Amino acid sequence: MDEAETIPLIARALGHARRPAIIASEGRFLYADLLDASARFANALLGQASDLNGARVALMLPPSFAYVAALLGIWRAGGIAVPLCITHPAPELAHVLDDSGATSIVTAPEHEPLLGPLARTRGVRLLRATDALAAISGTLPRVLPSRPALLIYTSGTPGKPKGALTTHAIVTAQMRSIVAAWEIRDNDHILHVLPLHHLHGILNALLSVLCAGGVCELMPRFDAAQVLARFQQPRDITLFMAVPTIYAKLTAQWDASGEPERAAITEACRSLRLFVSGSAALPASMLERFAALSSHVLLERYGMTEIGMGLGNPLHGARRAGYVGIPFPEVQARLVDDAGHVLGEDAAGKLEIRGPNVFHSYWGKPAATAAVFTQDGWFKTGDVGIRERGYYRLLGRESVDILKTSGYKVSALEIEEALREHPAIAEVCVVGVPDDTFGQRVAAAVITKPGAALNLEELRAFGKARMASYKVPTLLQVVAELPRNAMGKVQKPDVAKLFVR
Ligand code: AMP
Repeated sequence: MDEAETIPLIARALGHARRPAIIASEGRFLYADLLDASARFANALLGQASDLNGARVALMLPPSFAYVAALLGIWRAGGIAVPLCITHPAPELAHVLDDSGATSIVTAPEHEPLLGPLARTRGVRLLRATDALAAISGTLPRVLPSRPALLIYTSGTPGKPKGALTTHAIVTAQMRSIVAAWEIRDNDHILHVLPLHHLHGILNALLSVLCAGGVCELMPRFDAAQVLARFQQPRDITLFMAVPTIYAKLTAQWDASGEPERAAITEACRSLRLFVSGSAALPASMLERFAALSSHVLLERYGMTEIGMGLGNPLHGARRAGYVGIPFPEVQARLVDDAGHVLGEDAAGKLEIRGPNVFHSYWGKPAATAAVFTQDGWFKTGDVGIRERGYYRLLGRESVDILKTSGYKVSALEIEEALREHPAIAEVCVVGVPDDTFGQRVAAAVITKPGAALNLEELRAFGKARMASYKVPTLLQVVAELPRNAMGKVQKPDVAKLFVR
């Protein structure tokens, strides 16, 4: 190992140089190939400079070997990587470029028609990944762990997306915690299907696997049939990580398959050792349906752009449906009331997280950063939860998912979970509609299944059989579409527009 190497992920890669690292559309690559390609990238970015000294380098590439080489190359040149979403339209990209003050963008020809004008008007350098890979590698700067590494844009707080900044030390702590919790080893092989501008795809499914010396196989895009086929042939995948929507698509694909194919899929899933779900609440019904498909109990975990992973069901031991488990290794969690007093079991409160995994700051926003930390360094997640028999359960976001009706605090997620079991409902979103008498009324915006109909009486009767009556919707709106974010997660609709009375 090169003693001079100070970026932990690079130091580790040097330790398993002859092992396979990446499988992608371009081919199969060893850690040695990744080290070589990232050094070339770093030199292409540096030009005549000896260190990028924290310059922001945006990265807009499809899931590929080039993406990984570019990310590590930016780090090795002393830059801060700013991953861009490959499907974002110009105004959103412009916001990230302007807010981060990026000086270069690494990209591929297919994105140049969109990025070219954005780069030109800002005087930002556009660098093709293929050109960078052809550069000659030379001397690279020493990049200490305390230096900034990654800027991921997130809408976790009100207002436009903010860049959450982490240092190499923080990214390393986040990876170390995941590797320890899920016992990721160099014989692991993940099938990666997640977007690479979001924490889940970058940290959990890519960097943590590389940190452990495993293989990351990048699919250019998620396709349910291809994923299920890949599990079967050859039987070398050991890990899979996804959002609940992806698990819903996999189970729908399985439902549509014939009996012999279903049996073959279930058999193939047995050779994986772990399926992880996160980034959104996993409905208990989905956990059960996926268990029928795979004979695995999905491990649900909770994380956030600002903290990496925070809570998770255990690798060994009971995975409880509807719960997000216990703190990750090295992570501290607590629930507090409105006055900041720490709560015990069975009391709902605001979730706070502390540890070496917590981000550094929102880029260029000291006031917004200060607002999310307590005086003693706890990060206020904005999520509300409860701890029951040692396990945390999320009740929703502090903002829109926690409703107050007739003086009761109720979780929109909990109601959605119950209503999702209604045979006519394909998607449901529960919101609080302001009301003079009740404070808020529970309202459900529903997409019905094809050919199905639903009225409020039916919905209330169904809800009442499952929930306390104050949780039962008093308003119903059948809709064709619900707003979604870049991850496909349903967002709360604009209540004022939807529920006009
Ligand atoms: P992001 O920063 O985009 O990863 O979003 C983080 C937010 O996603 C958290 O603050 C939670 O509100 C939500 N989230 C993440 N994991 C879960 C989960 N397992 N269940 C419910 N919500 C989750």
